[in-house]
Order: sequence, then structure tokens, then C-alpha cells
Amino acid sequence: MTEELTRSIRIVNSEGKETSGSLRLRVYGPRERMKRAMKALGICWGLAVVTVFIPIAHFVLVPGFFIAGPVTAFLRYRVTETMDSVTGHCPTCGEEVTIPLEAGDQLPKWTYCPVNNDPVQLLEA
Ligand SMILES: [Zn+2]
Repeated sequence: MTEELTRSIRIVNSEGKETSGSLRLRVYGPRERMKRAMKALGICWGLAVVTVFIPIAHFVLVPGFFIAGPVTAFLRYRVTETMDSVTGHCPTCGEEVTIPLEAGDQLPKWTYCPVNNDPVQLLEA
């Protein structure tokens, strides 16, 4: 089961001014983690089968995807939560901003205010 959570965080600019924001994240249960891992394995092994038909390159691609399957599945299984986005007020311009995050992002993280491009740091509250 995938759960959507909101956690409060701090948004700090380079001059030390601080506002609070909320971080939206997705938390995966054991079944969901296994499903995500199996999907990654399926995609890699599917590519291994498809690349059998590419001459010469298949000597590298087939074993490559075959080995990459369990590796990516394991890495995917270890992921228990992914960060989605941050909503809050920019400490520099005061505008309400929503900053999208990458699945692999970790806090603390430096990013940019989407309104005035000022560097801001996202920190755990
Ligand atoms: Zn701003």
C-alpha cells in the first residue's frame, strides 16, 4: 500500500532567513516495494530478451541487462519512500512556491526558488 504523507520542513535562503514549508512524500509498504522491484526486474529482463536480436551488440547488451535486472530490483526494493514536492513560502521573495523533487533526492538539499531563482536550502524541521 502506498501512503501519501506530509512532513513539515524548513526553507532557508543564503542569508539565513527561514520559512516553513511542507514536504509531500510517498511511503511504500512491503508489498508495494516488492511490486516495484519485480517491475524493474521485468523491464531489464524484457530488454535482455529484445536485444538478443541486435547483431554484435547482443554480446554486451544481453548479459548486461540480465545482470542489471536483479541489481536494479534490489536497489528499488530498498527504497521505502520517495519525495514528491515541497510547498511553502520562499524566504527571499515571500511568494508561495511549489518545488518538484526527484525520486532520489535527499534532505538537506539546495535548490532554486522557481519565482526569483534565489538559491534556497530545504532542511528537515
Ligand atoms: Zn523566491
